Amino acid sequence: MVVQENLREIQQKIAAACKKADRSPEEVNIVAVTKYVSVDRAKEAVEAGISHLAENRLEGAMEKYEEIGGKAHWHFIGNLQSRKVKGMIHAYEYIHSLDRGSLAKELNKRVESGRTVKCFVQVNVSGEESKSGIAPAEVLSFIRSLDKYPAVKLIGLMTMAPHVENPEEVRPVFSHLRELRDQVMAENLDHAPCTELSMGMSNDFEIAVQEGATFIRLGTSLVGTESTS
Ligand SMILES: *Cc1c(COP(=O)(O)O)cnc(C)c1O
Repeated sequence: MVVQENLREIQQKIAAACKKADRSPEEVNIVAVTKYVSVDRAKEAVEAGISHLAENRLEGAMEKYEEIGGKAHWHFIGNLQSRKVKGMIHAYEYIHSLDRGSLAKELNKRVESGRTVKCFVQVNVSGEESKSGIAPAEVLSFIRSLDKYPAVKLIGLMTMAPHVENPEEVRPVFSHLRELRDQVMAENLDHAPCTELSMGMSNDFEIAVQEGATFIRLGTSLVGTESTS
């Protein structure tokens, strides 16, 4: 019952952060990042009431999908090679790491007809060289250029903040992403409603929620780091 206890604590923190920012906790979706844990722990998360699960690699992830399948909404949050899309797209409803036109093209080509894949454009707000993502100045033109891929629905922006001791330091990263989101939203693009913000991890989600996160991605603090071997 590890997950249930963690979840209760996290929900209290979300409620407090929402109160500070005058938001409703219902706007915040908790995505459990199960990359460090076993299928059983992922199942425990679903039983605790988590309906969004995320993986950042395909190895190991498909095993969880086979077992849990439609009981959860599946999110892909890692670097995605175009040649891997074909083998995984049936499982994933959300991609948080769209960072290039060639990937959008491949997703559009491979997603089953009649379906769309909900994508976040990953933005490298902090400008760290080690991080993937589009530069903030390029977000708008990048998103405009994706209108030729009707099966790719741009629902929002995603970022990873630098890891810092005091999460207060990364508040400007989150507020910058929110401003970019608002700029895209103001364009009223059919292919890019861009209403969502995927930001905040175990160490900084309370700040992210205060700054408008609608999807927070929690691994360690929610499902732990139990070894899968
Ligand atoms: C691993 C990972 C997370 C979760 O990290 P924790 O600090 O364990 O909560 C969130 N987002 C991405 C993209 C990740 O790779």
